[in-house]
Amino acid sequence: MAEDYYSLLGVARNATDAEIKSAYRKLAMKYHPDRNPGNKDAEEKFKKIGAAYEALSDAQKRKLYDQFGEAGVNAGAAGGFGGGPGGFQGFGGGAAGFGPGVDINDIFGDVFESFFGGQAGGGGGGRGRRAHGADLKYEVEIALEDAFRGSTLPLKFPRAQACETCKGSGAKPGTKLRRCAQCRGSGRVQVSQGFFSMTQTCPRCGGEGQSPEEPCRDCRGQGRVRRETEMKVKIPPGIYDGATLRISGEGEAAPHGGSPGDLYVHIKVRPDPRFERREDDLHVAGAVDIATAALGGLVEVPTLDGEPVKVKVPAGVQGGATFRVREKGMPKLHGRGRGDLLVTVRVEVPRELTARQRELLEELRASLAGEPHAAKSEGGGVFRKIFGGD
Ligand SMILES: [Zn+2]
Ligand SMILES: [Zn+2]
Repeated sequence: MAEDYYSLLGVARNATDAEIKSAYRKLAMKYHPDRNPGNKDAEEKFKKIGAAYEALSDAQKRKLYDQFGEAGVNAGAAGGFGGGPGGFQGFGGGAAGFGPGVDINDIFGDVFESFFGGQAGGGGGGRGRRAHGADLKYEVEIALEDAFRGSTLPLKFPRAQACETCKGSGAKPGTKLRRCAQCRGSGRVQVSQGFFSMTQTCPRCGGEGQSPEEPCRDCRGQGRVRRETEMKVKIPPGIYDGATLRISGEGEAAPHGGSPGDLYVHIKVRPDPRFERREDDLHVAGAVDIATAALGGLVEVPTLDGEPVKVKVPAGVQGGATFRVREKGMPKLHGRGRGDLLVTVRVEVPRELTARQRELLEELRASLAGEPHAAKSEGGGVFRKIFGGD
């Protein structure tokens, strides 16, 4: 059994970062291989305190360690609690589920961050006669609770929109469009580069073949303006970390009135301090005191519904044992029902004892060891059987 990281560093469970650092430094100096040449024990100890420090000096890892023990910290490597990026490999298909054609007009998020976007794709490439508006991609980070319930979040972002004054035509209201002077109405222009001659979408009219007689003043004849846009995006219950929602037609307006691009919303689900998600199942730690572990009993664990559930553990349950509570996990994004809740037992050894508890435990220890006389505190050595055995 691995040693407790806190005891390895000789610090209290609520030690500050500075205390942990200082304790580590002292021990690292003491056990450093350079100071203990050929000493295997020192080398081993040096490695252990290094591992302990690595876990406890990182807030996220420390939290996991406090909750799940070493398994939590080494999850990525061991595949234990699968919190790493690999945990949701099955999700490839999820994005596709929301792929092209699926219209979600209402979506949500709470931390909203642009990782891409803004640049108009208009006029480029000569792919078609009319330029398309650029797609916009944004990232939304939500809490696991939001992914559980689903929610509607307001998004606010800058976007090129069709100019209201000229309805996207680029012509000053009351004036007309006339044949584009640059391309003479063809929408294409020839560009020569050395020996080569290429045809491109006309930059002046955006391939429309006509341009305003008098440009709209609000958009300077572009037919679109940049605006702060607000909309509500609905995120379905059970959404996965890494999913992308496509909201068609909500990207940037095209210059000169072409079709708009799409809005892509990439979903990130924040790691939760209590629950670890694996596909549709949720994993949670269930703390059991040593008496309950030995005698069996009920353990109360939280769920995302808000109502805790009680899980029955048998007598003699060991730390690390896992119990499944059906249908208490995440809602299934595709299909019906919910995943399961998996409760992993963590046996909690008391850190402080009353005099009476100490007495009982000393008696218990003597009994377990089969020693004829009990604790020193009994003085006279009265030995009482507490439980079990013949
Ligand atoms: Zn305009
Ligand atoms: Zn033109």
